[in-house]
Amino acid sequence: MSKPATKTVNCPSCQKEVAWLEENKYRPFCSKRCKLIDFGDWAAEKHIIPGKRVSTEDDENQETLQ
Ligand SMILES: [Zn+2]
Repeated sequence: MSKPATKTVNCPSCQKEVAWLEENKYRPFCSKRCKLIDFGDWAAEKHIIPGKRVSTEDDENQETLQ
């Protein structure tokens, strides 16, 4: 009970529990691999065309009309 609890976080990429330690330079990620995966997602989001969302709304409207 006297042992201090190590703060842990969940890796944003794989949800694995990661100890929040100074030596873990990839935190909050569990590894360099997961950090790179997350960076890749950010890059992909920048390439999303705003018009794509409009087409999705059109699909929903068509389902409502039918
Ligand atoms: Zn991970």
